Amino acid sequence: MKVAVYPGSFDPITNGHLDILSRALKVFDKVIILVAINPDKKARFSIEDRVQMIKEAVKEYQNVEVDSCTGLTVDYAKKRGAKHLIRGIRGNVDFEYEYKLSSANNYIDDSIDMVFFMSKGSYAKLTSSMIIDLCKRGVDISNLVPQSVVNRIKEI
Ligand code: ADP
Repeated sequence: MKVAVYPGSFDPITNGHLDILSRALKVFDKVIILVAINPDKKARFSIEDRVQMIKEAVKEYQNVEVDSCTGLTVDYAKKRGAKHLIRGIRGNVDFEYEYKLSSANNYIDDSIDMVFFMSKGSYAKLTSSMIIDLCKRGVDISNLVPQSVVNRIKEI
C-alpha cells in the first residue's frame, strides 16, 4: 500500500488544495492530509477547526485520513510508513519555497521524497488569504472552497 502525507497549513483548505489531493490519489493508495504548523504564518483558524473543515470536505473519500502534528513532518511520515510528501506548486514563488523545503527535508531524512503536482490553471492564483480577503469584502467564495469552509469562514 503506497501511503503519502500531504502536509500544509490548510488555513483554511481551498479547492486548489483539494485539486492537488484528487490528483495525488491517482498515484497513491492512501493520502494523509496533515495540518502542520508553519512558523512563518499567523494562524487564522485553530488546528482543530482546520482538521474539522477538512474532514467534512473529504468525507466521501475512503482512502483519505486527516491528522495534525506539531513536530517534524518527516518524522510523522516515517511513523506512518509513508515515503512521500505531497505538495502543490502554483508558480515561481511556490517553486523557490518548495525547493528550499525539499532540501531541508532531504537533509533531515533522505529516505523521504517530496512529490509535486502543478496547480490547475484556474487555481493557480488561489490562496487561503485571498479567500479570506474576498469574503470580508462580501464576494461569494462558494466556488473557491468546500462547503465546510463557506459555513465557517464568516466567523473570523
Ligand atoms: P504551507 O503553509 O505549508 O505552505 P499551505 O496550506 O499554504 O501550507 O499549502 C500546502 C500546499 O498546497 C503547498 O505545497 C502549497 O503550494 C499547495 N497549495 C496551496 N494552494 C494551492 C493551490 N491553489 N493550487 C495548488 N497547490 C496549492
